[in-house]
Amino acid sequence: MLASQVLAPTLRDDPANADVVSHRLLLRAGFIRQLGSGLFTWLPLGLRVVQNVEAIVREELNRTGAQEVLMPVVQPAEIWQESGRWDAMGPELLRIIDRHARDYCFSPTHEEVVTDVLRQTMESYRDLPLSVYQINTKFRDEIRPRFGLMRAREFIMKDGYSFHLDDESLDVTYRAMHDAYAAILDRIGLRYRSVQADSGMMGGSDSEEFHVLADSGEDLIAYSPNSGYGANVERAEALSNGERPAPKESLTRVETPNAKTIEGVSKLLGIPPTRCVKTLMVHGTDSLIALILRGDHQLNEIKAAHLDGVIAPLRFASDEEISKSLNVDPGSIGPVELGVPYIVDRSADVLSDFVCGANENGFHLTGVNWLRDTPQGRVEDLRNVEPGDQSPDGSGPLAFARGIEVGHIFKLGRKYTESMNVTVQMPDGDDLYPTMGCYGLGVSRLVAAVVEQCHDEKGILWPKAVAPAMLHIVTINQQRSTAVEQAASNLYIECQREGIEVLWDDREERPGVKFNDAELIGIPYRVTIGDRGLKQGTFEFQHERSESIDVRPDDVISRLVAS
Ligand code: ATP
Ligand code: MG
Repeated sequence: MLASQVLAPTLRDDPANADVVSHRLLLRAGFIRQLGSGLFTWLPLGLRVVQNVEAIVREELNRTGAQEVLMPVVQPAEIWQESGRWDAMGPELLRIIDRHARDYCFSPTHEEVVTDVLRQTMESYRDLPLSVYQINTKFRDEIRPRFGLMRAREFIMKDGYSFHLDDESLDVTYRAMHDAYAAILDRIGLRYRSVQADSGMMGGSDSEEFHVLADSGEDLIAYSPNSGYGANVERAEALSNGERPAPKESLTRVETPNAKTIEGVSKLLGIPPTRCVKTLMVHGTDSLIALILRGDHQLNEIKAAHLDGVIAPLRFASDEEISKSLNVDPGSIGPVELGVPYIVDRSADVLSDFVCGANENGFHLTGVNWLRDTPQGRVEDLRNVEPGDQSPDGSGPLAFARGIEVGHIFKLGRKYTESMNVTVQMPDGDDLYPTMGCYGLGVSRLVAAVVEQCHDEKGILWPKAVAPAMLHIVTINQQRSTAVEQAASNLYIECQREGIEVLWDDREERPGVKFNDAELIGIPYRVTIGDRGLKQGTFEFQHERSESIDVRPDDVISRLVAS
């Protein structure tokens, strides 16, 4: 590639509205341009990185025995109605209407289509297991597209799907996919963790996410430094903190005028938030339900929404709904004689002599004890884990890190084969719904994650495995020196012969401009060719941001090949 010809428009200044490093650097280095909210064009250098990532993904996926296919992105509403997701997906699903007034959508994911493929192709149980994948464009009308490529609306995903006769067979493919994802991230050279995850809208049981570790990550993950345990905080199990002590205080009603928050009550009564409980009202299937947590703890809405009898996604009761049904303002609710069912978090359940609302405006109760003063209630895990919590596998305290979710693997079960009525006849004549796995990897998000992890204040530092080129040739005063031009041209041709990708900065620009661009673009090796070096018979050779060394022209190729 010749810099004078390639469409790689670098920017000297930071673009407006690019608040994360990957967005900013990919724009500045001329890898992408933005069309609209969550919509991006890949320019040639960026596309090369995408293609390098895709090549690694293909190799590792093919190794698992998965077969590559390509499915339509525009899909008829009927299959989504069959699975029940036409209604369930909500506004993230971009719906379109064709000239015959038929409903279609632009696919956010392909479970329906791949299940339809199975329906059309499967002849007998001998056709299973089947594992297919594609690398394709997805569209999700994200409520807040942000962080550039990390949460785009149109993006590139590798999505894989497998179908099996039994759980053991699904386990084998699920493991193989897990290992393939680890191999992909290892080959790119990223620091990452695989963690237990919530299955979200997809349904199903087991699910793991792969997170590239970076401070800009949207997800918080909890892990045990002493074991392999790791989980998204959305899902990480919170244990109770110890045993419940015996009651010492008597139940007392105290006046708490204007104290409507845990903080206010705790200050007024001089009792720490850890000895108060908070009562949050949500909609249940039959009535309002109270969720009761220790005052300093955070409700985990995802865990709560999974509980039987609680409406998912979680719906908080409004102040009016609370006043109407309980005759008390939200700031004064508590479990004692509440009048609606309650669910108690494990850590609230081990409190004794605690403080809660008295179900009477302006009053709280102190010295409250489960069993003695109010029934124990249903005990569940309702809260987020936090620093200080123990790992649920007993291996010691949890540590926390921010991560960018780049991959997600699920055991889906029979949700789609059942809803779309896809069966296979077994040797004994019985019909069986195949069980299913699905495996997503965000290719474009992964490119951004690489930049989030591999950069410094000057620009990107591409890992060799995905770099847009291996060598950046920077010439000094090329337009005035045939010696420089000739030396660069010889090296360029020789690299091409050796299959080494090169970007040759042959532009008529000042050396400073060329060096800044080279640092911004972040190709792993740089050779600078100028008259001064040529007089000594040397080029300047540099790996990433290390000190440059003088090398003889003949040595460049061998150094690159050896690297
Ligand atoms: P998130 O929680 O970040 O919205 P998700 O759970 O919706 O992700 P999946 O449905 O599992 O994601 O999709 C598989 C992969 O696709 C994700 O792991 C991620 O790498 C990528 N991905 C999902 N949404 C986006 C997006 N808006 N922009 C870029 N990549 C995305
Ligand atoms: Mg999402």
